[in-house]
Amino acid sequence: MTPGPLRLAAGLLVCVLGAVPSCADTPPTRLPRVGERPAGWVDVRLAAPDDGPRLGADRAWEVWDGDGEVVHAGDRLAWDTVLAREGDVVRLGDVPLGGLPLEVRPVDGGTLRVGSRRYRGLLRLEDDGRGGVRVVNRVSIEDYLRGVLPGEMPDRFGLEALKAQAVAARSYALAEAAQRGWLHPDVRSQVYKGRDAETWLASEAVRQTAGQVLTHEGRVIPAWFQSTCGGGTARAQDVFLDPPDGVLDRRVVCADCRDSPTWSWTRSLDGAVVCAAVGLPEAPLEEVRTEPGLYPGRPDRVVVVAGGLEASVPAVDFRDRVSKGRPWDAQLLSTRWAAPPRVEEGRLVVEGHGWGHGVGLCQYGARGFARRGAGYRVILRRYYPDARLVELS
Ligand SMILES: [Zn+2]
Repeated sequence: MTPGPLRLAAGLLVCVLGAVPSCADTPPTRLPRVGERPAGWVDVRLAAPDDGPRLGADRAWEVWDGDGEVVHAGDRLAWDTVLAREGDVVRLGDVPLGGLPLEVRPVDGGTLRVGSRRYRGLLRLEDDGRGGVRVVNRVSIEDYLRGVLPGEMPDRFGLEALKAQAVAARSYALAEAAQRGWLHPDVRSQVYKGRDAETWLASEAVRQTAGQVLTHEGRVIPAWFQSTCGGGTARAQDVFLDPPDGVLDRRVVCADCRDSPTWSWTRSLDGAVVCAAVGLPEAPLEEVRTEPGLYPGRPDRVVVVAGGLEASVPAVDFRDRVSKGRPWDAQLLSTRWAAPPRVEEGRLVVEGHGWGHGVGLCQYGARGFARRGAGYRVILRRYYPDARLVELS
């Protein structure tokens, strides 16, 4: 049995009474010193409109300069105050703040706003290299995850699946931040919508797994995850450039995602699109096959014969090329094919299973596995069998 629902019920009770640190209005995480990014904090480069970012604050705030001096302070800030740069001077509304870098720091547990969204942590204002200001949200990894998880997995998947997702997302973010130094706020890293996106259950999943990451040979791994593996995962080296050796390099069987809406799908692709994907001149399709021809399974390559010519590309590239820029119902949703491909009236018909790149945690599989009683540690062991679950000190 899983202890999840029991713990959840107890947590919910005290949360309603307003007395536990797991509630959404928990005391704010203590900010790091000006200019410092301690371990366990990440920088997220927020998107800005062309006419400059707009900032706001719901309580007191301060601006600190690079020398560690307070250069401005206020009680509140209208949510649409324009941040602009004139030469070396940054202005917030009518107020000149000075030169970059600067830090806008909430006081007394307030929240800062960028555009329509509120963010935990602080905001760093940096030179964007194009004469403007880049707004960076410096936030603890735990607070960051509270704004990420609801966009990656709905609450209805349940606490244990959410906890597995929290560990995967924490690992992925820290591995990426270690490599590049900062994160995107969107699918290029993970979708991060800040404080307004938070839910109680997702925050609880983050809190109950605080600091826990997946490692291999002492390093945090980029723990890729996906919607639906369709019966079996893919190997990282078949999908991504330079994945870490020795981890995520074997396929994992999963039948727990059968309830996913994308467990089975059929797509009919235009013959010209198929020819272009493998570099052939447009011609009537004669045959399309996979190598090896394992069904259901993930083939290595797709072979196309058209106009008397033959060409083949890796299955991962084929999926990307026929899907990019096309509507969802015209995309190949995965590289896991359920049956031999068919050519019908000049079009390629593909029956497939699952949705996503295929590597790592299967989200619908995690939901199904949890419903059968698996806790998050067991879920993680299935999808990352060569990784260790450790707690960051
Ligand atoms: Zn699955």
